[in-house]
Amino acid sequence: MIDLSNIKNPMDWRAIDRFILLASLVVLAPLVVGVTLVFTLFGAPEYLNIPWALGLLAICVVHLVASLALITMAVKKRLYQDDWPAFESFIIWGYIVIVLVATFMTGTYLTQGLLMLFLGINITSALSNINKIRQAYWWVLFFYGIKTSYDLAHPGLDAVLFARPMILPDGSMPWGWVSSEILLAVIMLILIYLCTAAFKRWGEREDLFKKMSKIDGLTQLTNRHTLIDQGERILERGRRENHQHKAWVSCIMLDLDHFKTINDTCGHAAGDAVLVQVSKIMRDTVRCYDEVGRYGGEEFCILLPSTPPKCAYDIAERLRMSIEKARIPYGDTRLQVTASLGVASKTYSEISDLNNLLKLADDALYVSKHGGRNQVSMASESGTASQTVELAALRLRDTSI
Ligand code: GH3
Ligand code: MG
Ligand code: MG
Repeated sequence: MIDLSNIKNPMDWRAIDRFILLASLVVLAPLVVGVTLVFTLFGAPEYLNIPWALGLLAICVVHLVASLALITMAVKKRLYQDDWPAFESFIIWGYIVIVLVATFMTGTYLTQGLLMLFLGINITSALSNINKIRQAYWWVLFFYGIKTSYDLAHPGLDAVLFARPMILPDGSMPWGWVSSEILLAVIMLILIYLCTAAFKRWGEREDLFKKMSKIDGLTQLTNRHTLIDQGERILERGRRENHQHKAWVSCIMLDLDHFKTINDTCGHAAGDAVLVQVSKIMRDTVRCYDEVGRYGGEEFCILLPSTPPKCAYDIAERLRMSIEKARIPYGDTRLQVTASLGVASKTYSEISDLNNLLKLADDALYVSKHGGRNQVSMASESGTASQTVELAALRLRDTSI
């Protein structure tokens, strides 16, 4: 089975828990800006345009108080609620507004401001609704467009928060400004770290989901959908490579006999153990480039590229015997099963549709079932020139081809 036990990353938390984490990170923005402003207002007010500074401080306080209130509410809500979309929107827009306003006033809108915004949005994108993030990206670009056009028309308005340049004539900078820049840099490093960690995890999840969508979780075999995809590819490749000579592609359909009885008498878990073991036998019996898939509940399909009928039949018979001989451990007992198999072969040039080959093998399988089970039947077509497939499934258990 695919091991999911190692997934403990925030990306796998419930939505509301992820939002609490995000909101706690976002609170850093008004906190840092607000604390820097308070220190500057007290320590070096001559550097600030006081009305702008008080306005920015008010926004920081409102954002901080609202965030803390919502975080507290979310902590209570998480006990009976998994999601809270309004909280998510507040986090995204709260962050955007505070960074946009702060960078507009400090004149850092094209450097740290932009970086902080996109880093912030990138982190959020790993933890929240991707559609909301996409919209946020476009809005941020729109605001930056307006701001940049406005600045080009009114160059003097840049960095309205400051009453005088932060760099003194001797090249030095006030300690408050330097420490806030350092703080900003530290926060950005933390954001970059979180961003890379989140994206790494994102990549791992993508790989896992991709694998899960192709593989049957119980048996680890290719699932039906992917098997058909692979089959189409095998046919395409075969037609391209073998158009000069008569090369065969074969298909084996396998269905366990009286499988329901195992479930009914020994339990579903015993049935699962049988499916896992039979899948392993199949995988070990065929060549590495043959495609083994779980076609349905206890029905399997094997596609054998470049395999003539005789060879496919031998493989099917070998499989049948291995399954019959196997004693599958389950608890204190050993379970025994048999399988019925149907084999169909066609040349790449004559095959028009994969479904046709699957259907032939399936029909042959049912001949095995009706013939008494635990046997292999081979499909043959009469009238191959026409598309009317008339199956003459030949019981070949005791005869050679
Ligand atoms: P037959 O010889 O005619 O094929 O009989 P059967 O009992 O094998 O076939 P039937 O179609 O009557 O029953 C198939 C059973 O397989 C029924 C279903 O519950 C069981 N099954 C399907 N998928 C799974 C699975 O993943 N695990 C287990 N344990 N059982 C499964
Ligand atoms: Mg069956
Ligand atoms: Mg079946």
